[in-house]
Amino acid sequence: MKNMKFFLKLLCGLLLICGLQTNASSQPYTRYTTPLNPNFYSSVFIDPSGHLSYQEILRPEYQEKFKPASSWGDELNFGFSSFTYWIKISLSSKQLVSTNWILEIPYFGLDHIDFYSPQGDVTRTGNLMSVDSRSIFYRYYAFPIELDSNTKDFYLKIESKQNLTVPLKLWEQSAFDKHIQTDTLIQAFYYGGLGILAAFNFLIFLYLRDRSHLYYSAFAILFGLGIFSGNGYGRLFLWPDSPQWDQISQIVMLTLGTGMALIFSTKFLNTKREQPITNWIFNFLIIVFFAYAFVIVAAEYLNISKNLIFEIFPIIVMPVIVTVLYAGARAYLAGQYSAKFFLISWGTLCVGGVLASLRQLDLIPTNWFTSYALQISSAIEMLLLSFALASRIQHERLLREKAQQEALFSKETLVQTLRASEERLERQVFNRTNDLRTMLESEKKLREQYIRFGSLISHEFRSPLGIIENQAALLSRQTDNDNYKKRLSIISSATHRLALLFDRWLQGDRLESHIDTDRPQLIQIDSWLKDTVEKCKGYHPNHTFNFTSPTQVPVLVLDEKMLEVVVLNLIDNACKYSAPQSTVLIRILIDKNKVGISITDSGIGIDPVNHEKIFEEYVQVHTGASKRGYGLGLSFVKKVMEFYGGQIQVISALGKGSEFIAWFPETSIAHPIDQPKQL
Ligand code: ADP
Repeated sequence: MKNMKFFLKLLCGLLLICGLQTNASSQPYTRYTTPLNPNFYSSVFIDPSGHLSYQEILRPEYQEKFKPASSWGDELNFGFSSFTYWIKISLSSKQLVSTNWILEIPYFGLDHIDFYSPQGDVTRTGNLMSVDSRSIFYRYYAFPIELDSNTKDFYLKIESKQNLTVPLKLWEQSAFDKHIQTDTLIQAFYYGGLGILAAFNFLIFLYLRDRSHLYYSAFAILFGLGIFSGNGYGRLFLWPDSPQWDQISQIVMLTLGTGMALIFSTKFLNTKREQPITNWIFNFLIIVFFAYAFVIVAAEYLNISKNLIFEIFPIIVMPVIVTVLYAGARAYLAGQYSAKFFLISWGTLCVGGVLASLRQLDLIPTNWFTSYALQISSAIEMLLLSFALASRIQHERLLREKAQQEALFSKETLVQTLRASEERLERQVFNRTNDLRTMLESEKKLREQYIRFGSLISHEFRSPLGIIENQAALLSRQTDNDNYKKRLSIISSATHRLALLFDRWLQGDRLESHIDTDRPQLIQIDSWLKDTVEKCKGYHPNHTFNFTSPTQVPVLVLDEKMLEVVVLNLIDNACKYSAPQSTVLIRILIDKNKVGISITDSGIGIDPVNHEKIFEEYVQVHTGASKRGYGLGLSFVKKVMEFYGGQIQVISALGKGSEFIAWFPETSIAHPIDQPKQL
């Protein structure tokens, strides 16, 4: 509503200026500063044949036929005519006071103008002649006149295929000079301003890559060129010898300019996305306008009559005005702030166009303002459109800033939330770690208690088991009764098994819990192993044991209990999985920096596919009833060897016996081996 009021005020203002100008024009001429209408001193003769010469016209019979120009009204307008018109202007310095005058015809559409001075000198010029033919280098036709006290007759011979209007003006020389200067200055301001706006927006386009600015530039240049050629400057400066092009240049430029303005409008209002149907109409009009420009050029150069084509122009301009104003209003109502400037600018151009049309139709008087209405309104339009573009950039900048602020705010919120959840998580982890630590400690404590309890039990069991074992051995030595000996051997074998079971249980727990695991001591491995093999003979009376050792063996640093469990397990297995009366070979091996204890049997052997499996817990490959066990022995051996950084090696095949070698690494060796002896 606010804009509507502003628009109406602007319209009223413009009409008021028109009114003021009308009144001003009805004032009597002020000598020397404004032009005179020489119609009062003029008379007209029409030569339908067009063959009469200047000399013939001077004859009395033709002189009689001259009729006063005032009978045609204020302005001589003969419409479309193929006749030749002679205008006689009779002047003297007595009437006009001053001697130097300029006769101006401010109208381009006169094909041929011959100006005859009283002396009979002729100046031939006109629209179809070169610019060089003009007496004064001026956008209209102007002829210098020199008067004296005697009345002199000046003749104009005019022919034209266009609308034959002869708006004569008589300027006092100095007033004309001033008029030219002022006119040139105003025009220079206009084109300069337009040029700056076009260049400025082109630079903005190069910088922002926003095509609206490019279309705006093209629109401003084409529209400016249209007005430029319409004002006669195109002919003066750009195409002085092309009257044919000059005749259509204005309409072609304005048509192309309007097409460009439509493209600009679609981009500026973003009609493709916001108003699809209006966008369709825009596209249609753009095609129509470019096609129209093409048709005009084609018609001109193919010499087809353009009258009909020119008459179409107002018809195709009307939908442009309606569409542009409608699309602008919709965009503004939809909240596009910059559409306000867009609407006002196009509204201003429309008012200018309406005023220019009304002046052409003689519905409003011709004066400075109405003559320049289109030019003024187009300048205002260009300026406002430039504002509209700037306002759009500003609006987008504000939106971007707002979006950035929102993004920043949400980022900060996110960071805060993350920080809070991180702190919460840290707290939870801290609490959980504490809980776990407490649980672990109590678990460790429990395990220690359990192991201590285990070792107590084991110890308590081991002592009586040792006593039973010793007593059985003693008894076996004291008796010769084979039956007793056999039974005593069974007792000591069972006792040994029980003791081994306790040891495995106790050592296994120690290994797994890493609690108080290692009690290393120096072990002379050859003598220790020899003793152990001797003991085993008692437990496994049905097997023969063969022990070999290099002469020089290193001293090992190991927990004796662990070593014992490893060796006894391997010897037990060798006896368990080989036939009675077979031999078990026990050897000490030295390989580079490693010391190995090898136990070889000639028993059932192990399929190579099971070589890895047998070291897993609770894995038994032979499950025959006679081979009692739980599948724990080898897994325990492996654990002990890994604990010492050593390894357990198996060499075996089904039916070919087995060899297990427990390799102890260099770290388990107390004294280096000087001379390893070959086995
Ligand atoms: P188990 O208590 O069953 O003997 P181990 O862990 O000591 O458990 O042995 C795992 C499996 O490895 C045994 O079930 C057996 O099949 C195989 N094994 C171990 N030692 C020998 C061996 N000297 N000869 C043949 N098989 C053996």
